[in-house]
Amino acid sequence: NRPGAAFPFDNSYVGLPERFFTPQSPTPVTEPWLIKLNEPLAAELGLDVEALRRDGAAIFSGNLVPEGAQPLAMAYAGHQFGGFSPVLGDGRAILLGEVVDAKGKRFDIQLKGAGPTPFSRRGDGRAALGPVLREYIISEAMFALGVPATRALAAVTTGEPVYREEVLPGAVFTRVAASHIRVGTFQFFAARGDTGGVRALADHVIDRHYPTLKEADNPYLALFDAVSDRQAALIARWLHVGFIHGVMNTDNMTVSGETIDFGPCAFMDSYDPATVFSSIDQHGRYAYANQPAIGQWNLARLGETLLPLIDAEPDSAVDKANIVIRAYGERFQAQWLAGMRHKIGLAGEEDGDLELVQALLALMQAQVADFTLTFRRLSDLAGDDTAEPAFAASFREPDACRDWLVRWRERLSRDPQAASERAVAMRRVNPAFIPRNHRVEQAIDAAVEDGDFSLFEALLTVLSNPYEDQPAFAAYMEPPKPNERVLQTFC
Ligand code: AMP
Ligand code: MG
Ligand code: MG
Repeated sequence: NRPGAAFPFDNSYVGLPERFFTPQSPTPVTEPWLIKLNEPLAAELGLDVEALRRDGAAIFSGNLVPEGAQPLAMAYAGHQFGGFSPVLGDGRAILLGEVVDAKGKRFDIQLKGAGPTPFSRRGDGRAALGPVLREYIISEAMFALGVPATRALAAVTTGEPVYREEVLPGAVFTRVAASHIRVGTFQFFAARGDTGGVRALADHVIDRHYPTLKEADNPYLALFDAVSDRQAALIARWLHVGFIHGVMNTDNMTVSGETIDFGPCAFMDSYDPATVFSSIDQHGRYAYANQPAIGQWNLARLGETLLPLIDAEPDSAVDKANIVIRAYGERFQAQWLAGMRHKIGLAGEEDGDLELVQALLALMQAQVADFTLTFRRLSDLAGDDTAEPAFAASFREPDACRDWLVRWRERLSRDPQAASERAVAMRRVNPAFIPRNHRVEQAIDAAVEDGDFSLFEALLTVLSNPYEDQPAFAAYMEPPKPNERVLQTFC
């Protein structure tokens, strides 16, 4: 087989009007080395795994542009921390092309850190090894947790330095996404008054992500509604696993409903709704508990771009869009509560369930309880009364949870599900393993400082089965010790 003929490319974005992107080849690097190829994902996508093993360093560094690729940088705009930039675009990412898997699902193959583009502004178009490993770990962990997210296909080092606050090893990340179309992609055209561009993009998105909406009475309103629905579900899932995205700018929100751009993101250890890790989020705009409201704010920005397509009569377009925005709040709340019911082992629904969930969260906050472990140990307790001391130990004062447990057991006595089934169901929604910050940091440090990728590999192994007990890896369940605690994350 020919070098570089590893992808059955079938590209659609490149067929959109030329103002949607700029053709751009990756910039070669001096000494590419393949850190990791995600072989199961490559196989699922119908790629030639054999060829990727052989040529992966060249392909995933951008040195060898595979056959059928039509590399380009996508144009987009975005609100960053509330302020609008009319031109952002792929400043360090290059879309190689798209492949369609055996189920007919289309995926983008994108190199991140593959050199400058016309959108780079003052940036170097490159990525440092640490953030590349972080994105690899977190995106695969999200997938295993069942949270929609872009995927990691490969990571390479470039053999070249990148200059940040310090000199760091350069790397390239290969990302797989249902698409890289963002709220900010719509904003790019709307900000120019280019309604034709917005319409062409909306038609492409409907075709690609929401094909049944073509038959809707008002396909563009239906599109806005469908995107809102997916974002409500997605952000509810983030909250269920303690995920904090960190940079929920409109250019970092997809219209497909996948989590994207794992910059300074992190998972919470002890429960506190105000938790922020990102070094660039100084006012806590993107704190854990703000995420649902920020999602709604971002969707309002998407809605604005669609107004001329929703209704020719402006007031009526606004009224229709506002109904969707309001529905988002209700959808989020319903999705969130449904998931929280499952986390505490409820199969049925009763009026007081919200209060019961809130009481537990308040207790966890007051008692500095670890978010992940508390729910995992509650799952154990559901099937085994002798597990109560372990659950109680999650709280600073173990006795503080007794009253809540009385309420919980009383509620469970009226729930239809059998205790044995309940414990199994709870363990399927309450992970034992999340990518804890300190573990991610340790894996990155070993790789960056010593070229040692063994912790990175171990973490990927553990996180690929987050809902299974893995006794050999029990230490990975533990929250950080005081000296291991990571307070800030960086992009
Ligand atoms: P992000 O903060 O990763 O969402 O990126 C925001 C914008 O900055 C996007 O337009 C990126 O392409 C651009 N950008 C981020 N880092 C770099 C870099 N090293 N070189 C060029 N552009 C970059
Ligand atoms: Mg162009
Ligand atoms: Mg981004």
